[in-house]
Amino acid sequence: MKQKKLIIGNWKMNPTSLNEAKKIFTNIRRIASKTSKVQTIICPPFVYLNDLQKLVTGPRCVLGSQNIFWQFQGAYTGEISPAMISDLDIKYVILGHSKRRELGETNEEINQKVKLCFKYNLIPIVCVGENKRSGSIKYFDFIKKQLIESLQGISKNQIKKIVVTYEPIWAIGKEAEREATPEEATEMSIFIRKVLSDIFDLKSISQLQVLYGGSVDCQNAEGFLNQQGINGLLLGRVSLISDKFNEVLKIAQNL
Ligand code: PEP
Repeated sequence: MKQKKLIIGNWKMNPTSLNEAKKIFTNIRRIASKTSKVQTIICPPFVYLNDLQKLVTGPRCVLGSQNIFWQFQGAYTGEISPAMISDLDIKYVILGHSKRRELGETNEEINQKVKLCFKYNLIPIVCVGENKRSGSIKYFDFIKKQLIESLQGISKNQIKKIVVTYEPIWAIGKEAEREATPEEATEMSIFIRKVLSDIFDLKSISQLQVLYGGSVDCQNAEGFLNQQGINGLLLGRVSLISDKFNEVLKIAQNL
């Protein structure tokens, strides 16, 4: 059976009221609940998860968490445990997003978080991406290091369940230079699979899903989704504009 396209919305620290969050989620759910070939995952701020979870009506449109802490319990002021996320019946967790790495999150911490995800039956969506591309091809080494260090000690069985998202930092957010081209994203998805198949083996990574994120909108989504190595998309700004996000869902459905 053909794999569903994964379309993830990362709301970051938006919107600023629960009412608005409910409105956006309900609008997205209206379309996402009908798109049988798409798995939609909306990642709102932590404080909205419990209320939004009550609005989830089926498996096609579910919630994810934007992060977890690298311990499951203890004196960690302001942190969120993977056990708490799991207890809310939430399955997906974004890890290593560039905005968290910018705040100092390391590959080692991400690695601990990935391991904890498996303890609590959570699916890690591990983000990797280089800061800039210069004339040289050094950024491939950078991505390789991120992958090796973040996924160290993961079993062959676990790697099958991981989602890797390629998000070049120069392509993310309002300050983006530009989006990557579909060819650049595909080239990196091949590289990611090659690095991981060298560590794990080809068979274990045959089910691995590799996504692209960075300035995706209704105009460029199809170009990425048509690439064979791209299993879905992660959207930031557009995921808060339900009409535009829904357009992307329809594009993924009608490929
Ligand atoms: C993101 O938040 O990871 C992201 C890709 O943002 P945007 O779509 O706004 O570039």
